[in-house]
Amino acid sequence: MIADDFIYCKPETKRDAVKAYKKLKNERNKVFYYGGGSEIITMARAGSKVPNAVIDIKSIPECNVLEVKNNVLIIGGAVSLNAIAESKLFPLLGTTGSRIADHTNQCRISIAGNICGTIIYRETVLPLLLADAKISIYGPGGRRTLPLSEIFHKRIQLGQGEFIYQIKIKKEMTETPFIHVKRTANEKIDYPLVTVCTTQYKGRLRMAFSGICSYPFRSIEIEEVINNSQVSLGEKLDLIHNLLPEPPLTDYEGSGEYRIFVMNHIIENILERYHNNAKNL
Ligand SMILES: Cc1cc2nc3c(=O)[nH]c(=O)nc-3n(C[C@H](O)[C@H](O)[C@H](O)COP(=O)(O)OP(=O)(O)OC[C@H]3O[C@@H](n4cnc5c(N)ncnc54)[C@H](O)[C@@H]3O)c2cc1C
Repeated sequence: MIADDFIYCKPETKRDAVKAYKKLKNERNKVFYYGGGSEIITMARAGSKVPNAVIDIKSIPECNVLEVKNNVLIIGGAVSLNAIAESKLFPLLGTTGSRIADHTNQCRISIAGNICGTIIYRETVLPLLLADAKISIYGPGGRRTLPLSEIFHKRIQLGQGEFIYQIKIKKEMTETPFIHVKRTANEKIDYPLVTVCTTQYKGRLRMAFSGICSYPFRSIEIEEVINNSQVSLGEKLDLIHNLLPEPPLTDYEGSGEYRIFVMNHIIENILERYHNNAKNL
């Protein structure tokens, strides 16, 4: 429960959602789009992010779509991590979501909420970057669809009043062989020390990371190193360390040094499985 009064809107169209946003903003409210609400409610309870108004997108039909149409997987922004996992339509995304929070929360957390949330790990971004996902956004300027890689720089770059209504992925990109590894400090259900997602597409490995730095990322430079058969494993690990987009994260989960140790171990394991031609790669 949130102790303070706030305005709750549940529009049935994208246009009404933006109309409500503009009106509430003009009335000087602190307005948030609302997916699963897990983060908004937790932060409001803690007093750190108290909205005056929320716009729940769950009654907008396009935000609840989960289907393959013309060889493209369409996932509505309000679809829960659990629904994605159960659908088995994108196994890597399903596996990644199944390792975020617990089952009760997975039934609530929306895919767009995980991408847009303030909690830094945003692990669902990893499979989406690897699969060249496109993001459909609606806002005061109408709608636009862009590759996630173009609008995700440390975090999603949305304009004022914009929200994600759908995510689109070519079906063939949902079917690539993959390895997902998440290492946590203590419990199985915890924030990641390091999560690595790897896919193999057209004979090359793609790799994306969460936990190692203060934001999730895919690095083409790291992939060049990973795929270079002329470079030894030891050299690869040294080069990857130097190609991280920022120094490794140090927080209560673990030091930067420990995170590098864990990441190296994961990469070593993944490459070993790859070279041994493991079943799921
Ligand atoms: C117990 C627990 C453990 C967790 N562990 C992990 C973890 O290990 N890894 C990880 O990545 N995350 C983890 N999380 C974070 C969790 O994934 C986020 O809290 C969650 O993703 C928020 O999703 P939501 O749908 O509940 O978002 P909400 O609380 O509804 O919203 C979160 C933010 O996203 C914005 N937003 C929501 N929907 C949209 C939209 N369609 N368009 C634009 N903006 C939108 C909201 O305005 C708000 O700012 C954990 C959370 C919990 C509760």
